[in-house]
Amino acid sequence: MSESTERIHCLIIGSGPAGYTAAIYAARAGMKPVLYSGLQPGGQLTITTDVENYPGYPEGIMGPQMMKDFEAQARRMGTDLRWGMVSKVDLSQRPLRIEVDEEKWIEADSVIIATGASAKWLGIESEQRLNGYGVSACAVCDGFFFKDKEVAIVGAGDTACEEALYLAKLCTKVHMIVRRNEMRASKVMQERVLKTGNIQIYWNSETVEVLGDKKVDGVKIRDHQTNEETTIPLSAFFVAIGHQPNSDLFKDYLQMDEQGYILTTPGTSKTNIDGVFACGDVQDKIYRQAVTAAGSGCMAALDAERYLGALEHEAATAAHASA
Ligand code: NDP
Repeated sequence: MSESTERIHCLIIGSGPAGYTAAIYAARAGMKPVLYSGLQPGGQLTITTDVENYPGYPEGIMGPQMMKDFEAQARRMGTDLRWGMVSKVDLSQRPLRIEVDEEKWIEADSVIIATGASAKWLGIESEQRLNGYGVSACAVCDGFFFKDKEVAIVGAGDTACEEALYLAKLCTKVHMIVRRNEMRASKVMQERVLKTGNIQIYWNSETVEVLGDKKVDGVKIRDHQTNEETTIPLSAFFVAIGHQPNSDLFKDYLQMDEQGYILTTPGTSKTNIDGVFACGDVQDKIYRQAVTAAGSGCMAALDAERYLGALEHEAATAAHASA
């Protein structure tokens, strides 16, 4: 071990609900976890406003505050919380090797990956400017604030269909902007959307601009076959064009699906490498909720605890045999 290499029992990468929950459990179990928070401490919840569907907060809570609470709890239990970005990993050897901030190498007996996912955005200026002011990438998180209003959603996959159906129950009308003349979503989801009276679909359409000064008050779209532009007055603009799991660092070592979500053994957080566990949105493309991420963080800490316990037992048995 070189001078700049540190040895850690349980390393947690990522600081959303999954990472912090893993840290709380691991610290309470005496595993002395070290958590590196990454570029966006608190993860995706720090870019949402009120969270009203996380149990235990009857009045709701702001996403950034909720993450501060998770962090404070992880710290109080004894987690070593650090700023820093994992820049490289080598999971081919034991102990596992992790480079932080392109300068420091760590050796870890177990690694819990909780690096989350990032919503994809259209990339237009108005979308970024009004983010959090009526522009959102999560209908389940923010749809309720636009109850009885008109809203738009862009996208045509299963997520967009699911979110359009969710919004249609709350909102007076949902304008669905689809860039081709067909949807990518499964047939059953498409049929449900097409049968829902208050969802209006705009085929072959792209978003030109989200309108509004301090908050969203409309959207301008263009039919790219006719070049006709239409302005739709509305209160919120939802983007549902997919998520990108933050898993690039691990692609040479871990099994992933074709979109880059880390594969875990069903019912566990175990990856294909012993001692490496994954939890939260980096391995979940379906539920993606704070509460499910937290639950899977708990699973990862318990799985890591069992793994480390077995390692220690093996080492003690070997030492006993050679004595
Ligand atoms: P997908 O990648 O399946 O779909 C993304 C959609 O966004 C596509 O329709 C795509 O259009 C559109 N899109 C992408 N970029 C743009 C853009 N710049 N402008 C306009 N539209 C754009 O992502 P999903 O999140 O919907 O789904 C991800 C995976 O998760 C899928 O495998 C899905 O089946 C699965 N899933 C399953 C669910 C379930 O089983 N209940 C629920 C939710 C997701 P285009 O088609 O033209 O490329």
